[in-house]
Amino acid sequence: MKSNITQTTAIGTVAKSLPQNKVILLTHLISNSYIPYADLHKFFGIGWLYRIFLIRLCDVFRKFAGEFTDMAKRKTREKEAYKQYLERTGFGEAPITAALIDMDGVLYDSMKNHTKAWIRLSEELGWNYSPDEFYLYEGMTGAAIIRLMMKRETGRDDVSDEEAKEIYAKKAEYFRELGNVDKIEGADMMLATLRSAGIKRVLVTGSGQHSLLDRLNADYPGIFSEDLKVTALDVKRGKPDPEPYLMGLEKAGVKAENAIVIENAPLGVKAGNASGCFTVGITTGPVPEDVMMENGADIVYPTMTAFADALTDIIAARNYSF
Ligand code: CA
Repeated sequence: MKSNITQTTAIGTVAKSLPQNKVILLTHLISNSYIPYADLHKFFGIGWLYRIFLIRLCDVFRKFAGEFTDMAKRKTREKEAYKQYLERTGFGEAPITAALIDMDGVLYDSMKNHTKAWIRLSEELGWNYSPDEFYLYEGMTGAAIIRLMMKRETGRDDVSDEEAKEIYAKKAEYFRELGNVDKIEGADMMLATLRSAGIKRVLVTGSGQHSLLDRLNADYPGIFSEDLKVTALDVKRGKPDPEPYLMGLEKAGVKAENAIVIENAPLGVKAGNASGCFTVGITTGPVPEDVMMENGADIVYPTMTAFADALTDIIAARNYSF
């Protein structure tokens, strides 16, 4: 304590001999607790104290001004994205009443394990695939991926539903063996915001992976009702075809202009775009923003947390803009 006061006295002496602009340096010393606030007047005098107070006030003001500017830029970007969406679809402005939500990479950080399971399966079949390829297939049903691989590797295009189901069961088992996956950070906040705004939540996934689908209600309690789920088991064509999202709209009983799609994969945003919904891309995996935009995302966020942070404003803007 004694050495702290000695140090503080020395800093106070230096302060009196410094030009005013060096006070900024001193304020940092104070911020870092080298000088106790309560003792400031003893060392600096009221005049210095006043100047330091003003500088600190300016720092706080600058920080808030910076945050305000960032928020204003973000809102401009969102407004522009919505304007372009209205242009591409020809729809009029409408509030959001339903959110069609993908599962892998949106609710669960599961893509790494899906990729490992696909690689293990393809190696077992003597096929050579790189992990990145499976991120590009993301969104397709398991059966569609198996047919694609089979055609490429063997030229066969006669894989029956039964055979595809059998091969997919192996992949699903390898995925399950890799253990539980984490939830995506920010997903809870995103879903809570939708729920408190009274927006219907519809699950729309190309997955038929029971190990994930069965734990969804436990991980996200009270979010998805059974009649508002579309999985690989429900659709014929699957993403990138709009069928799963159109089915989601039908189940929710809402029109495309009243829904948003929340996706993380190029083929998923392609399906969302084709369904006529405003399509949000979240880059939770290795696929970059420009690839998401090229495939039809109306707007892209770098993380789920960034999207969740913006969501209240997005909903409000759509509610009050007409
Ligand atoms: Ca996904």
